[in-house]
Amino acid sequence: MMNTKRTKPKTLKRINNTEFRIVWQDDHTSQYDLSYLRALCPCAECGKLRNDGQDVHSLFSNIGRGNIDQIHSAGIQAVDVQLVGRYAICFHWSDGHRSGIYDFKFLRSICPTERKKANSEEPGDIGG
Ligand SMILES: [Zn+2]
Repeated sequence: MMNTKRTKPKTLKRINNTEFRIVWQDDHTSQYDLSYLRALCPCAECGKLRNDGQDVHSLFSNIGRGNIDQIHSAGIQAVDVQLVGRYAICFHWSDGHRSGIYDFKFLRSICPTERKKANSEEPGDIGG
């Protein structure tokens, strides 16, 4: 059975002008820089930017993929954060952008602490 507690938030909190925190129902805490979330915006427009204008890549690759440096998000702030149904949140960014729907599965998949862990546990025997 899928562990749905992993992708259901217990609390959502904008901590300050630069950080956003989610505590999940499995008691894991994810803390995100807002600039990181802005750079990973899952909307098609930002996907296009991250993939050098190649729309086909943004539409069929995992959301959040591509070169996040293509999105200039330094110093970005969240003017507003709204729930979208029961499955996602939407940020209204200080650069005026607001089309990204960040569903909770996506947010959990980009959790910075779990990303680090996954990288360090990567097996070294791929390829050949
Ligand atoms: Zn976007």
